Amino acid sequence: MTESNIAVEQSLRFEDGKFVQNDIALENSINIPTSGPHFHEVLNQHQLSLVHDKPNELQMNLGKLCNLACHHCHVDAGPKRTEIMTWEVMEKVLSWAKEANIERADLTGGAPELNPHFRQFCDALIDLGIEITSRCNITVLFEKGQEDLAQWYRDREIRLVCSLPCYTEDNVDAQRGKGVFDKSIAGLQLLNKLGYGKDPKLSLDLVYNPGGAFLPPAQMSLEEDYRRMLGDNFGIVFSNLLAITNIPINRFAHALKRDGELDDYQHLLVSNFNESTVDNLMCKSLINLDWEGRVFDCDFNQMLEIPMSGGEERYLWDIKIDQVAGAPIATNRHCFGCTAGAGSSCGGVLAE
Ligand code: SF4
Ligand code: SF4
Repeated sequence: MTESNIAVEQSLRFEDGKFVQNDIALENSINIPTSGPHFHEVLNQHQLSLVHDKPNELQMNLGKLCNLACHHCHVDAGPKRTEIMTWEVMEKVLSWAKEANIERADLTGGAPELNPHFRQFCDALIDLGIEITSRCNITVLFEKGQEDLAQWYRDREIRLVCSLPCYTEDNVDAQRGKGVFDKSIAGLQLLNKLGYGKDPKLSLDLVYNPGGAFLPPAQMSLEEDYRRMLGDNFGIVFSNLLAITNIPINRFAHALKRDGELDDYQHLLVSNFNESTVDNLMCKSLINLDWEGRVFDCDFNQMLEIPMSGGEERYLWDIKIDQVAGAPIATNRHCFGCTAGAGSSCGGVLAE
């Protein structure tokens, strides 16, 4: 039996002459919702199934180390985490990416910049002609040893996606920790001074996510509010606002469960299922890697340790890019977080 056959059997099943989606059984389901319909049931009702397109992007989690420990963090990242991608793994990734003609790299963590090989890795990706997006929490710009980071980013014209879950101090500090709002504002002002958010080559996107168990408001009107509030109060400009739904896994799911809100939140996600988001789901166009180089369908599945396609655990260097197109995507109830309302991905909404 081939590797792709194993994957197909576990996350798609053949019925009435066609493949239908099948949610992956999780050994440990305490980290996700367990109530309501399965994701596959709703996809199948709409005669939809989820398979990969040919990927042109690698989304890489460079480690779980972070200078913050936010409430909504689906990675459970924090200052005490020790999982970090090694240079040896990075070298293997670079040679695979070159062979596969990968066009884009999306670097995330934890705080990816705290990986000691981060800068060397970025330079090697740039040498391969790969366009980089870095998910920067802004406050890392003020960490010891990172004082030149903003200028370093600017010199390489690396696209920055920066989390700022609100334009008010109370909401940001409640979600991310005391003092984070002030540091974030100072960091954005520094980036603006270097041309980020002003020069079209220096893209600076901000990320909003709700401060609780509710869906994001409309991205476009929220962006207008951000522009007005950050512009008027702090003179800050940015490129785009990305509104991202909180996915009910790990730290966020635990908090909802503790507060007795998990079932209601899941109901909210399910009842707002929007079939027009499915074609644009981010898992279709990327390969996600963890700090060890193992492959997943997306960062959320990585955190739930659901291997790519729900098959056996594999490393990037175990697969060929041509095997990925058409391979099934592993799903479970947390996937409703990506298809609710206008939809959600690392690039913001999926349907207006
Ligand atoms: S900054 Fe990002 S990675 Fe770090 S704890 Fe907050 S959400 Fe998690
Ligand atoms: S969580 Fe979202 S991105 Fe991940 S597999 Fe499910 S639908 Fe795709």
